[in-house]
Amino acid sequence: MSDVVIVGGGPAGLTAALFAQKNGLEATVLDTDGTWLHKAHLFNYPGIGSVDGSVYLETLRGQVDSFGVDRLQGAEATDVEQTDQGFRVDTDDDAVEGRYLVLATGAKRDLAEALGCAFDGDVVDVDVTMETSVDGAYATGAMVRAEEWQAVISAGDGAAAALNILSEEKGEHYHDFDVPSDADAVFGGMADEE
Ligand SMILES: Cc1cc2nc3c(=O)[nH]c(=O)nc-3n(C[C@H](O)[C@H](O)[C@H](O)COP(=O)(O)OP(=O)(O)OC[C@H]3O[C@@H](n4cnc5c(N)ncnc54)[C@H](O)[C@@H]3O)c2cc1C
Repeated sequence: MSDVVIVGGGPAGLTAALFAQKNGLEATVLDTDGTWLHKAHLFNYPGIGSVDGSVYLETLRGQVDSFGVDRLQGAEATDVEQTDQGFRVDTDDDAVEGRYLVLATGAKRDLAEALGCAFDGDVVDVDVTMETSVDGAYATGAMVRAEEWQAVISAGDGAAAALNILSEEKGEHYHDFDVPSDADAVFGGMADEE
């Protein structure tokens, strides 16, 4: 039983995992590696001048791995349903359970449909925290947008979903704020020397 099960390991899913795990929740990511990043070169990701999409993905995977995210690479979610404890996500030979669910499958909306999430036309209907009509289930990226299909927007969606889950858990608005002394504590003052 994980705290947050995330289906999809592109910018949206991995950012949701990063924010959740970094702040004390156990995150599990199922991913089939069909991310559009493998076709992209990013010149429009703020703070990064120019990076090949697959290179960016490897950095992001390393970042979530370093926080201890359970990344099930190659695991395809075939179905999802609500349970008494939260959600069960089926794969061909196994199942993963979590108290919260984040759908981050790019433009693929089949799991949201299977779960019974409300749609607004062709897209999954979410509020500003990316929560769907199903309590505790979030949707991100292209499945919630007819346009605005960009890596940074997906990453923002994933962050918003995770922060809202953290707020739910802690019972108050949660902000993932770090300060320079946090970097000193982690890197022993090396962070500023680069
Ligand atoms: C040719 C091209 C060029 C692009 N150029 C840019 C650009 O310059 N700048 C920019 O910002 N964006 C660009 N994009 C768009 C960008 O790649 C996407 O916006 C971004 O990857 C979306 O992130 P995401 O996490 O929402 O979805 P994705 O990155 O698509 O990730 C979804 C992941 O979910 C996995 N998945 C799907 N279904 C399942 C399932 N059932 N079980 C398990 N895993 C599943 C997929 O395999 C995939 O890995 C480009 C896209 C293309 C195609």
